[in-house]
Amino acid sequence: MFNKVDRKIIDKLVDICGANDVSTEEEELERYSQDESGRFYAHPPEVVVKVESTEEISKVLKLANENLIPVTPRGAGSGVVGGAVPIYGGILLSLEKMNQILEIDRVNLVAVAEPGVVTNDLCKKVAEEGLFYPGYPMSVETSFLGGNVATNAGGSKVIKYGNTGHHILGLEVILPSGEILSLGGKRRKDSSGYNLLNLMIGSEGTLGVFGRIIVNLIPLPQYVVDLLVPFPTVESAIKTVPEVITESRVLPCAVEFLDRPSVEVASLYTRSRWEYQDRAESYLLIQFDGNNKAQLEEAYIRAGEACLKLGALEVFVAENPFASERLWRLRRNYLEAIKTIDPYVVTGDAVVPTSLIPQMLMKIKEIGEEYKTEILCVAHAGDGNIHSAPLKPKDVDPEDWQEIQEEILDKIAVEASLLGGAPSGEHGIGYVKKKALYLSKKSEIPLMREIKRVLDPNGIMNPGKVF
Ligand SMILES: Cc1cc2nc3c(=O)[nH]c(=O)nc-3n(C[C@H](O)[C@H](O)[C@H](O)COP(=O)(O)OP(=O)(O)OC[C@H]3O[C@@H](n4cnc5c(N)ncnc54)[C@H](O)[C@@H]3O)c2cc1C
Repeated sequence: MFNKVDRKIIDKLVDICGANDVSTEEEELERYSQDESGRFYAHPPEVVVKVESTEEISKVLKLANENLIPVTPRGAGSGVVGGAVPIYGGILLSLEKMNQILEIDRVNLVAVAEPGVVTNDLCKKVAEEGLFYPGYPMSVETSFLGGNVATNAGGSKVIKYGNTGHHILGLEVILPSGEILSLGGKRRKDSSGYNLLNLMIGSEGTLGVFGRIIVNLIPLPQYVVDLLVPFPTVESAIKTVPEVITESRVLPCAVEFLDRPSVEVASLYTRSRWEYQDRAESYLLIQFDGNNKAQLEEAYIRAGEACLKLGALEVFVAENPFASERLWRLRRNYLEAIKTIDPYVVTGDAVVPTSLIPQMLMKIKEIGEEYKTEILCVAHAGDGNIHSAPLKPKDVDPEDWQEIQEEILDKIAVEASLLGGAPSGEHGIGYVKKKALYLSKKSEIPLMREIKRVLDPNGIMNPGKVF
C-alpha cells in the first residue's frame, strides 16, 4: 500500500532538511521506534527527519505524499497509546528542533510557540510575566506543546480550567499536500463557518502536522493551597468528591483520587511517603487557587469539613510550594512508578460523568475479578477521568498478556461509554485503543473516515492510528 524509503527519497530529504537532520542509523531508528505505550507496540521508522521550520515540514509532506510514503509526526514520545509509533515504517517526522517560544503578548494575553516547546518551558516563561498557561498535562516536564494539542491532553486542572483544547486559539496546520493553513489566531471569538481549529485539536497527527501554536494565557493565580485527605475506603473518598465541589463554594482546580496500591507504588518510586499510608485505603488530593486569600481559606476549610463529615481520617493542608511539591511529586510520578513493577503495563483512560465514578470503579473491580488481575486506579476525579492499570499476573506470559490486557482495557472503555462516557478522556486513541473507539463510537466512525479521506486522500498521515 505504501512505498519504501529509497536512496532517491533520502537524497531529497537531505536537500530539504540538510544531512544533519536526516538519519537512517540503526541506533536512531531504534530510539524513535516506541513511545510510552512500551515495547509491545514498538516499530522502527525507515528514516528519522528532524524538521526546523514550517517550510521544511511542508516540503517533506509534499514529497511523502507524491511518493506514497507514510509520515508519523512525533513530539516528545511521551504518549501512552502508540500514537507516535511509526507502525508502517516510513518517515518519522520529529518536531524536537522547533522548540522556540516566539512571543508572549501581554495585551492579547496569548503566547505564540513552536510545536516542539516542552510544555513546562512555556509555563515557566509565561509565569515570569505573571501569566499562566492552564492547558498543561501532568507530563508537563517532558511532553511538547504540539503533542498536547494533537492528543487534546488533559491534566489535573480540567475541572476549573478545561483541557489543552480550551486554550488553543490558533494553529498553523501543514496538510499532506504541503499546503499551509492558518486556523484561528489571536482573536477570542469566531463564528465564521465550520470550526476547523477544533477539528484539528486531538487529531493525533492523522490529518496534518502542527507548526506554530497560539495559546490562551490568564493572570497567574497568586495563592495555591493543597489538601491531602486520606480515607478508610475507596467508596468514602469517591462519595466525597461532589460534596467538596459544592460545599467549598469555590471551584477547586484539582480533585485527584488515588487508591492505596497506587500510592504505595508511587511512594516507593519517589522515596517519599504520604501521611496515613499504614491505614488509608484511598486519598483525595484537592487543590484550590485564586487571588483572594481570605476566600481561599474559607473554601479549603469548608472542603476539609465536608471531607471529615464523610469519613476522612484527617485533612492535611499544604500552603507553601515545598509542601505542595512533596504531594504532587508522588502523584505526577505514578505512571513511571507502576512501570517499574510492571514494564508491560498500559493504562486505561476512560471518562464518565463525574457522578458515575463510583459505578465505574465498581465495574473496574468486577472486571479485575473476572480476569484475576489487580487493577490499580487513579482518577482526575473532578472531571470523571479514570486511569486504570491492570497488572500482569506473575504466572501469565508477556505475549499472552498483551491480548488479555487489551481485552480488559477495551471492556473498561465500553463500560464507560455505556455510562455516557468515552474510551479516552485525554490520552487519545492512537494504535492501542482503536478497538475501544470502534466499539464505543461505531456510528461516528464513517464520518470521521470521510473527513480523513478529504484531508489526506493518500492516507500517508500517521496511518494505522485512530481507525
Ligand atoms: C508520566 C506520564 C504522565 C502523563 N500524564 C498525562 C496527563 O496528565 N494528561 C494527558 O493528557 N496525558 C498524559 N500523559 C500522556 C502524554 O504525555 C500526552 O499524551 C502528551 O500530550 C503527548 O505529548 P508528546 O509531545 O509526548 O507527543 P507524542 O507522544 O510524541 O505524540 C502524541 C501524538 O501526537 C502526534 N503529534 C505530536 N506532535 C505533533 C505535531 N506537531 N503535529 C501533529 N501531530 C503531532 C503524534 O503523531 C501522536 O499521534 C502522560 C504520560 C506520561 C509518560
